[in-house]
Amino acid sequence: MTISNIEEIKCPNGHIFEAQLLSAISISENPELKEVLIAGEINLVSCPECGEMFYAECFILYHDSKNELIAFVYPLSFQNQAAQCKMKMCKEFELALENFEEKQKIKYEPLLLFGIEDLIILLRSEQDIEDEEMILKYLASKILLDTIKIVPSLARKLGIPKVLPVPKGEKSIETKSLISGLQILIKHNANLQHYIEFLDKISKHKTIIADLKK
Ligand SMILES: [Zn+2]
Repeated sequence: MTISNIEEIKCPNGHIFEAQLLSAISISENPELKEVLIAGEINLVSCPECGEMFYAECFILYHDSKNELIAFVYPLSFQNQAAQCKMKMCKEFELALENFEEKQKIKYEPLLLFGIEDLIILLRSEQDIEDEEMILKYLASKILLDTIKIVPSLARKLGIPKVLPVPKGEKSIETKSLISGLQILIKHNANLQHYIEFLDKISKHKTIIADLKK
C-alpha cells in the first residue's frame, strides 16, 4: 500500500514547515513511482521560507511484489543503530506476514537499507540488468538460445541476471549448458557486462549452480 503523511520538517537553514512525505511505496499499486524514485525526486521538498530544495528523510517501506523486493529504508542517521533497526524490521515483517492470506505469503527476506540513495543505487543497477535481459530475449530467437528464468529474489541475492541463456533445447540449469549459453550470447554482444561477469563467476565457482537449483 502506498502511504503518505503530513510531516513537520526543518530545512537546512532552520525553517520549520509541513510537507506531505511518502512513507510506504507499493510499485504494484503505483508503478509510476519507480521512475520518480530513480530520478531522486521522492520526498524532495522546497522550503517555503528560503526556497531551498532538499530531500526530507523519513522511514520508507518499499515494496515491489513482481520483483520480489521489500526494502525497509531508514534515514541515513540511523546507520549507527543498525542492530536495533534490523530487529524492528524483522518484528514488523513477521507481523505484516501474519496479516497476509496464505497464498500471498512472501517467501523472500526484506532488505535493510540506510538512506534513500542506497535504494536508488540498487534500483538503477537492477534497471541496467533488465536492459541486458531485454537484449538477451531479443537475441535468443535469432542465435539459437533458450532462456531460463530464476526468481528475482534469488538473482538479487547472487548478484546475477534473472533471465539466463542456455543452448537451444536445454531445459534445465546445468553449469555446462549455462557456460555455453553465456559464451554464445557474449560472442554476439560483447557489451553485456552483467552476463560477462556472471560467466566469469560461474567459471570460477562452479558450485554457484547449486544455489540456483534451490
Ligand atoms: Zn528554509
